[in-house]
Amino acid sequence: MFSIKIKRQKTIFFLYWFLLAYIIAALVWWFIALNQQNQKMTEHELQQLHRDDARFNEKQEQILEEKKRKTAQYFGEGITFLMLIFAGAVFVFRAVRRQFKQSIEQQHFMMAITHELKTPIAVTRLNLETLQKHKLTAEQQQRLITNTLQEANRLNDLCNNLLLASQIEAGGYIFTKETIDLSELVSECAHDFIIRFPQRHLLVSVPPGITYTGDRILLQMAINNLLDNAIKYSGKEKNVWISLIQLDDKISLTVKDEGKGINDLEKDKVFDKFYRIGNQHTKGSRGTGLGLYVTKRILEQHKAEIVVTNNTPMGSIFEIVLTGKNG
Ligand code: ADP
Repeated sequence: MFSIKIKRQKTIFFLYWFLLAYIIAALVWWFIALNQQNQKMTEHELQQLHRDDARFNEKQEQILEEKKRKTAQYFGEGITFLMLIFAGAVFVFRAVRRQFKQSIEQQHFMMAITHELKTPIAVTRLNLETLQKHKLTAEQQQRLITNTLQEANRLNDLCNNLLLASQIEAGGYIFTKETIDLSELVSECAHDFIIRFPQRHLLVSVPPGITYTGDRILLQMAINNLLDNAIKYSGKEKNVWISLIQLDDKISLTVKDEGKGINDLEKDKVFDKFYRIGNQHTKGSRGTGLGLYVTKRILEQHKAEIVVTNNTPMGSIFEIVLTGKNG
């Protein structure tokens, strides 16, 4: 499906460049033809002059002056026309390229979302069928229930991200503002992850009593997205850290992992909608490319910033900087 799209894109771009080259060639040809005509008319007018005419020199000068004026006029018009064509061509090229990029990203997204929706449903069904059909020990039952809950949580996070992304885009989300005990919120999110991923090491450093005015549900989503990524993009044996610090009116929330990291060229792009590093090669890891986009939009609403840097010796550090004054 993608190769058909890319082929069509190549054909359209070929036609585009061909048409552009044709228009420019026609313009240059038009300039040369007009100039030649001008030259011939000048020659003809000069031939009509009589040497014994008392105003011969004056008339000759007038004809040559007229020729110069016409050449300048053709040149000026040609250049203006050429510049307009170039400006239009750049505009159309960018718009078409952006359209193609968006349509390919959307297809990647549709594939990812189908996979993301089907997997938890399939896992949940299988787990429930196993619980129904087989006599299991209490421990086995517990494991299946925990796994099913994890999948349900994943589905819930995905639906929240999807819903919020479309609501923000349509301008339909009403942001609420309340005083939040951020220390408590971060600790709760961390605690949920410890329950959801008991085999992972999540190290939490959160002093009590840090408060902030914002939208509780959205901030919770942003924190969950960062934690989810830190766990998803680092190996099972690796640690993940979450910490909260307040310095004057600045609050810094950091999620750090020892995963594969993000190279400098991709550090900005990971916040774009549907962007996933490596695209088709990342099929192994589950995701839609919406998490960081939604996170960034949430933080924009709070006039807060998010930056990603490298962890040493490996991994990423996502830092959210909130200021006491968020409008
Ligand atoms: P998703 O995880 O659903 O693909 P995100 O918007 O959350 O979407 O992340 C976009 C991309 O950024 C991911 O596909 C992944 O390639 C990269 N990424 C995000 N967080 C991390 C991380 N902690 N370590 C390495 N890569 C990451």
